[in-house]
Amino acid sequence: MAAPEFDYVIVGAGTAGCLLANRLSADPAKRVLLLEAGGRDNWHWIHIPVGYLYCIGNPRTDWLYKTEPDAGLNGRVLRYPRGRTLGGCSSINGMIYMRGQARDYEHWAHVTGDTEWTWDNCLPDFKAHEDHHRLDDGPNGHENFAKLHGSGGEWRVEKQRLRWDILDAFAAAAQQAGVPATDDFNRGTNEGVGYFEVNQRSGWRWNTAKAFLRPTCMSRPNFTLWTNAQAQRLTIERAFQAKQETILVNAAHREASWYQSQLQAQSAETLRLKQEMSDPPFYRTVWFGFVAGVLTVSLAIGVGAAVVGAGS
Ligand SMILES: Cc1cc2nc3c(=O)[nH]c(=O)nc-3n(C[C@H](O)[C@H](O)[C@H](O)COP(=O)(O)OP(=O)(O)OC[C@H]3O[C@@H](n4cnc5c(N)ncnc54)[C@H](O)[C@@H]3O)c2cc1C
Repeated sequence: MAAPEFDYVIVGAGTAGCLLANRLSADPAKRVLLLEAGGRDNWHWIHIPVGYLYCIGNPRTDWLYKTEPDAGLNGRVLRYPRGRTLGGCSSINGMIYMRGQARDYEHWAHVTGDTEWTWDNCLPDFKAHEDHHRLDDGPNGHENFAKLHGSGGEWRVEKQRLRWDILDAFAAAAQQAGVPATDDFNRGTNEGVGYFEVNQRSGWRWNTAKAFLRPTCMSRPNFTLWTNAQAQRLTIERAFQAKQETILVNAAHREASWYQSQLQAQSAETLRLKQEMSDPPFYRTVWFGFVAGVLTVSLAIGVGAAVVGAGS
């Protein structure tokens, strides 16, 4: 079988992976492979907002992690859901559109020494991918809102359709107790009480697979998606004298027979790894950019749990 070649291999088609795949494959000269351990997001419960009740705790869509027994919880073990399907956690989460607090970004900038992390520097990125319903008719009358929110991006934000009397009563009580009312939790402060806005379109869940892969990415000839392809090991071998770095991704892919591919990457980008809690077998979302120079990447694909060790 002819060895496929890619410039970028993204491990994990979750929230970050789908966005990265979209941005990287926008350059037709870059060949992008997106690997996802789970299956397609072609189950109706993923798309019906209340369906997360069926997705969480279901091996079709959840990694089924559990915490260690916690002494502070009288030894109890808690379920720790993590999405395992196209879209990752964005296919099983609560859909609340929540950016985080400005002070968190300032803190990251401080501890990393990288001013790119400041709230002011991240805000244009948030706006670039946002499609906020309040700006559907342009910023007319919403000029101040438009300083903080975007329109026309892939990530749809809508007013949620739920409203309960008891929630209204709770909000009123919170305001009586001094908590301010707010209709926007994404101005850099999460303080306030009100209804969250959600990642939905016309009442359907808007996961990142819909937002960033369909239709644009999927139709690009330089983009390849493999679902049911779990990377099992990442090995980085450096041969500094030869100024060459070999990255091996060992993955299981049900549609592939044994083969090995040589991937040539020529780029001046840095290797970025992202890991939240979970995914012991691997980093959750890994974006392979490559350090300067010509780098050789070997992607070993096997069936089942078998692992290929010999690269390049
Ligand atoms: C139940 C729940 C409710 C939540 N509610 C909200 C909310 O309302 N609002 C909010 O903002 N956030 C919410 N979150 C958090 C938010 O969804 C996550 O922080 C975010 O989606 C994480 O994005 P990610 O790209 O880092 O990881 P993920 O979206 O989890 O993507 C990781 C992807 O990598 C795949 N993967 C992992 N290992 C491998 C491997 N070895 N090989 C191949 N693929 C692999 C996974 O299957 C997954 O698809 C919630 C999360 C959960 C679980």
